[in-house]
Amino acid sequence: MPVSGLPPYDENNIFARILRGEIPSKRVHEDEWAVAFHDIAPQAPTHVLVIPRGAYVSLADFATRGSEAEVAGFWRAVATVAKSLGLEDAGYRTLSNMGRAAGQEVPHFHVHLFGGRPLGPMLV
Ligand code: IMP
Repeated sequence: MPVSGLPPYDENNIFARILRGEIPSKRVHEDEWAVAFHDIAPQAPTHVLVIPRGAYVSLADFATRGSEAEVAGFWRAVATVAKSLGLEDAGYRTLSNMGRAAGQEVPHFHVHLFGGRPLGPMLV
């Protein structure tokens, strides 16, 4: 069933291909649950994407079908990545676009991690 205009999971979406190593990425972290790599078009001095290893199109899909272990492991990885990149003291922002209307372009669930400069108030 499509979620917010997103088609069913496409095994050939760009992040699936990055996970399989078919497309290069600048990885900063990988563990059992998640892989993190630099965004190709950074919007901040540090702009990293964290993705689960599992095939989920969006946050809604991940929250619905992901196991407790996957969901916990994934979000722990997000915090671990932020800390390992030295963002914790100054602060950082996480963001996930859910669905086409929210600007989600890549249909594999991902969290953006921004840091390295004052980020100001969040604008929506
Ligand atoms: P979305 O709009 O929330 O789906 O974000 C997708 C993000 O993926 C954008 O910030 C893109 O710059 C980024 N992106 C697209 N292709 C690649 C790639 O091949 N490597 C790293 N980041 C990518």
